[in-house]
Amino acid sequence: MATLYWFRNDLRIQDNEALARVIDSGEAITPVFVLPEGFSELSEIRKNSLIASFIALQADFPTKISILHKHSDLLAVANQVSAGKVISMRAYDTTGKLLQAKIAQELFEAGIALELVGSNYAVTPGTVLKDDGSPLRVYTPFYKRWSQFDPGRPIQVSLQTARWIEYQSGFELPTATFEVRAGEKFALETFAKFRKRALSNYSDGRNRMDQSGTSHLSHALAHGEIHPRTLLVQLGDSPSEETFRKEICWREFYADVLFHNPHTLTEYYNEEFARMAYANPEKDQELLVAWQQGKTGYPVVDAAMRQLLTTGWMHNRARMVVASFLVKDLHFEWQIGASWFEEHLTDFDPASNAHGWQWTAGCGTDASPYYRVFNPILQGLKFDPNGDYVRKFVPELRHLVGASVHTPWEFIDGYSLGYPAQIVDHAKERDEALARLKALKGQ
Ligand SMILES: Cc1cc2nc3c(=O)[nH]c(=O)nc-3n(C[C@H](O)[C@H](O)[C@H](O)COP(=O)(O)OP(=O)(O)OC[C@H]3O[C@@H](n4cnc5c(N)ncnc54)[C@H](O)[C@@H]3O)c2cc1C
Repeated sequence: MATLYWFRNDLRIQDNEALARVIDSGEAITPVFVLPEGFSELSEIRKNSLIASFIALQADFPTKISILHKHSDLLAVANQVSAGKVISMRAYDTTGKLLQAKIAQELFEAGIALELVGSNYAVTPGTVLKDDGSPLRVYTPFYKRWSQFDPGRPIQVSLQTARWIEYQSGFELPTATFEVRAGEKFALETFAKFRKRALSNYSDGRNRMDQSGTSHLSHALAHGEIHPRTLLVQLGDSPSEETFRKEICWREFYADVLFHNPHTLTEYYNEEFARMAYANPEKDQELLVAWQQGKTGYPVVDAAMRQLLTTGWMHNRARMVVASFLVKDLHFEWQIGASWFEEHLTDFDPASNAHGWQWTAGCGTDASPYYRVFNPILQGLKFDPNGDYVRKFVPELRHLVGASVHTPWEFIDGYSLGYPAQIVDHAKERDEALARLKALKGQ
């Protein structure tokens, strides 16, 4: 009898509990990967990044991993290879949980078991609880408890002893249209370089948009090319390593929050914010498109949105600045921005994205208070002090030297290369956002 191994976003070999389980079972294994639903609607960069992750995994895998067109094909393939069981990594996010429940039911009706093993987290979502057994709603106490769990040593996986049965699905992943570096080896190399390059200064360097002060591991973590346990065991106790550990924990905190509150993938964590007055994406489409395309007339916002379009990644501080701008300067609901990020971010993660947006919008856990409105000009001057970040992504401002890129309106030639005028007045819209909050609170 064979066992089907269903690769999800665990596109790695080492430190993969589910893969270790299927190998330990001693059964012949048929590995499969299913093209994610909605794949064709993703941006080219996101599609290519997923293809690159898969190709890297396949290159290191001793047998062909069969590509399936849709999840309902799992049952047909399991039947064809006479599998008694399907093994996969357990998902904890809203969509992943629904999908695995549906597939478990379909398989069960055919007499096939779905065994879900492990996760992409050091501490499984749902594990960290208060003394009374309820979930935590605030990050700092979550971190204190999370730190007390020992994630254990990375799991060594050997593919040598396994027996494989290839399944020819006749379907292939679309061909990449450009090259993206990805995969388990690249993730390990990226971490090793980050430890040499930037980890010792991470506490300060992580906020600078113009510098490469962060790990750039979010893509690898989102695709499961590396397990956070593999990162955590290599960290010491220096202040910067502690800060990095805390960032890994933010990812786990949001996964935990989403696990306990699955509706907050698309709905307000703090429900009262659903009643606030918001802009209409159809009526105010021009403003929305200007934000999406990086043409708001606010240099840091535009650099960040163009960084997203051209690289599929955006600096964390820039994510906060553009999210604040969309919600508080343009008054759109956070979900509109979260969907745009989902389409374009190669590190898209349902929990970190939904709750990163809700935090910035002021309606999430630990919410940065709604009345905190990021000033995009001051953020630029502080976290891109020499203007290099803006010049890199906004060619219409490359003629301006140093920090002057942040205030092109102060220079006679500031707009000479066609940089757009500001689409709104930040000071005015800040007051408007606060007035809307006051109206909400007064209701
Ligand atoms: C509006 C908004 C949307 C976001 N959407 C996503 C998303 O879809 N996917 C995603 O991985 N991160 C998201 N983040 C969090 C954060 O911006 C990215 O994880 C980070 O920029 C990735 O770069 P890095 O790997 O170099 O991070 P590093 O600073 O090197 O951090 C290491 C790892 O810690 C985790 N991490 C760091 N900061 C955060 C954070 N604030 N919240 C959760 N996890 C964090 C990530 O897994 C990251 O790879 C979002 C933040 C905001 C404000």
